[in-house]
Amino acid sequence: MIPVFDGHNDALTVEDHADLGGGRKGGHLDLPRMRRGGMLGGIFAVFTPSPQERSGRRRFRGEAYREPLAKPVPQGDAAAHATAAAGRLLRLEREGRLRVAREVADLDAAHDDPSSPPVAVLHLEGAEAIDPELEALDQWHAAGLRSLGPVWSRANAFAHGVPFAFPSTPDIGPGLTDAGRALIGSCAELGVLVDLSHMNEAGFWDAARMEAGPLVASHSGAHALCPASRNLTDPQLDAIGSSDGLVGIVFATVFLRTDFGDNPDTPLTLIAEHARYVAERIGPRHVALGSDFDGATVPSELGDAAGLQKLVDALRQVGFAESEIEDVCWHNWRRALGDWWT
Ligand code: ZN
Repeated sequence: MIPVFDGHNDALTVEDHADLGGGRKGGHLDLPRMRRGGMLGGIFAVFTPSPQERSGRRRFRGEAYREPLAKPVPQGDAAAHATAAAGRLLRLEREGRLRVAREVADLDAAHDDPSSPPVAVLHLEGAEAIDPELEALDQWHAAGLRSLGPVWSRANAFAHGVPFAFPSTPDIGPGLTDAGRALIGSCAELGVLVDLSHMNEAGFWDAARMEAGPLVASHSGAHALCPASRNLTDPQLDAIGSSDGLVGIVFATVFLRTDFGDNPDTPLTLIAEHARYVAERIGPRHVALGSDFDGATVPSELGDAAGLQKLVDALRQVGFAESEIEDVCWHNWRRALGDWWT
């Protein structure tokens, strides 16, 4: 089995999160399925939905769409919600079921001994839980936060997320705020990776100009293959490559398919084709995986985390060499995280 490090899942905030350790009935990810799929590590997102979204997930119907931006979340609400979700991960660590990554050695330990507990990187998807003065950031870092997306697909004190739209450029709305620049600077200082996946294009370029660290989009696809607002344009890919960053290729069918359908009947090879496109444009060193397990519809052919080795086979089929596959599946994430953490 090829060891897999996956760049984005939403399992911490699913309804049946209590069964993450022992195994859930549905969904995509839990610890037993991670083990079956060779997923020895991953980035675990803490995402606080906007108030109107708590009851259900958006459905894309396979036709042009432009969703209005989700409503902002007050800091207090996000702080309470996110603290509880992060606590779930720390509890799994206390029970010995997984290891929370605080340094690169934690990633290596999970990789080098597949029988040891898998490694989890604590990630905030949208920094609403942090005050604009950034006083809470140190607290989060002390709790194990090692990855942060300043913004989800809505506006906050730091940046503007890209609204969900298709077909659409990601160039919608203004860039980073002063607080957003300060946040990215502080993340670089503390050693917290900055994730640009939900950021609009103006914010992406503002972040790129800061040169705070490699540019990373944890769960996105190639805009050239699927022109959704959430995907990366060729110039963005080029900037990611020249910063020695990476793209975690998303498995969400809406960001893979040319008809933008939220459709599980999507060939698994489409994920590999996005990976191939990015590798051909900027090199396999800048390609990684970012499933969005438990946050989106993924190809039923893949199924869930237990099916990850099928994706490894699909990467072989589109022409990745064995050593490139090992990099895409693990070492590229290890390098990008390590660059931010040290
Ligand atoms: Zn996301």
